Amino acid sequence: MPDRNTLQQQMFASATDRRLFELAQAQACEYMAGVRAQRVFPTEAALAGLAGFDEALPDGPCEPAAMLRQLHELGSPATTASTGGRYFGLVVGSVFPPVVAAKWLADAWDQCAALHASSPVSSKLEAVCQGWLLDLLGLPAGCVAGFVGGTSTATAVGLAAARHELLRRQGWDVNADGLFGAPPIRVVIGAEAHGTVFKALALLGLGRDRVEKVPVDGQGRMIASAIPALDDRTLVFAQAGNVNTGAFDPFEAICDQAAAAGAWVHVDGAFGLWAAASPRLRHLVRGMERADSWSVDAHKTLNAPYDCGIVLCRHPEATVAAMQNTGAYIVYGEKRDGMLYTPEMSRRGRGTELWATLKTLGRSGTAELVEGLCERARQASALLKKAGFRVLNEVVFNQVLVACAGKEQTLATLGRLQDSGECWCGVSSWQGETVIRLSVCSWATTPEDIDRTVAAFIKARR
Ligand SMILES: *Cc1c(COP(=O)(O)O)cnc(C)c1O
Repeated sequence: MPDRNTLQQQMFASATDRRLFELAQAQACEYMAGVRAQRVFPTEAALAGLAGFDEALPDGPCEPAAMLRQLHELGSPATTASTGGRYFGLVVGSVFPPVVAAKWLADAWDQCAALHASSPVSSKLEAVCQGWLLDLLGLPAGCVAGFVGGTSTATAVGLAAARHELLRRQGWDVNADGLFGAPPIRVVIGAEAHGTVFKALALLGLGRDRVEKVPVDGQGRMIASAIPALDDRTLVFAQAGNVNTGAFDPFEAICDQAAAAGAWVHVDGAFGLWAAASPRLRHLVRGMERADSWSVDAHKTLNAPYDCGIVLCRHPEATVAAMQNTGAYIVYGEKRDGMLYTPEMSRRGRGTELWATLKTLGRSGTAELVEGLCERARQASALLKKAGFRVLNEVVFNQVLVACAGKEQTLATLGRLQDSGECWCGVSSWQGETVIRLSVCSWATTPEDIDRTVAAFIKARR
């Protein structure tokens, strides 16, 4: 029989042995220093190297430094260089190096952010972030924020709060009695709503296909005059930042109609809500502050580390009621208990990294960040047009949709672009046309990165 305390002894020894942490630090610093020169998508050899992880479950403990070396040797080369400035797929931010440092400290804390009682510091930092976010985004005091994994979850929480409140006003308790036999809720949604909104509708029993779709214009914006008559049993989904074009719905018209009818408005602002943080771009979201709930990602435009979505809601009671959770051992306190606003109970203290990001940037840094992404997108659009590419959208924010003469050439160009390792863009289709989708979302993208990217586009077209 091995000594029962062997593992503990090893771990206590690790806690005071700085060599392991110095090794991790050296590896991470090597990665951060090299990432801008790395191929944006990994080489075939690096991908093949991932097979090195295919081993049977180890019979016993691994020497810690060997574990770290394997992770770095096999893992680091097989990352996409999404922090390197020339990754334009999905809508992907890059962590700020000072925030990586803060995250290391918070990782050592390993806090459970469920309750104030389980982590006073997490509770405090969430409360501070909530206040800062309302200020930065121009949302009314009294709104609450729930810190979740991403906008998919944030939208589901906003929808759950809306569902609870709209039915409560009809005298129906959805928590107790469910949806069978409940008064119907109408859902009004732009024809260009994000897929995650439909996922939330399916998850929460409102159904993907029973929505009333509002036609959109050439940029994907809801046509305000085509919004059906609303009432107090209606939930309207609006969008700040179309995932293809970056376009914004007409919030003033939507919120005017909703307010007159008593409808609930939720804004999916995964990346676009951050326009509110810039005096120069704020006009894009005018009126959205009159909505009832919002979802937004800090890990996109704000460049916070991953796993940082936020749901904001004007009706704290509705959010808390929808996320209800009880148990004799759960003791809510006077201070903020984060689990009241989220589906999860045990959670990482993700408010810590959000706090570190906002503290690092401040108000002016946040505005500069958001404006910089949009400037780079406009630069890319102008240069690509000059080089004879077609840009299909009005570049109002950080998204650029690019096409060649026809579908075949567009796809062939994209394939060679991805293979080049110079940059990475994904494919999409916009109103029937196949496009290369370029999303500028990293603080690390410089004007030179855009020049180099456009040069790669031109080379790939041949
Ligand atoms: C990214 C995105 C989502 C989903 O957010 P996740 O953080 O990936 O869950 C929803 N809506 C829009 C408009 C997005 O861009």
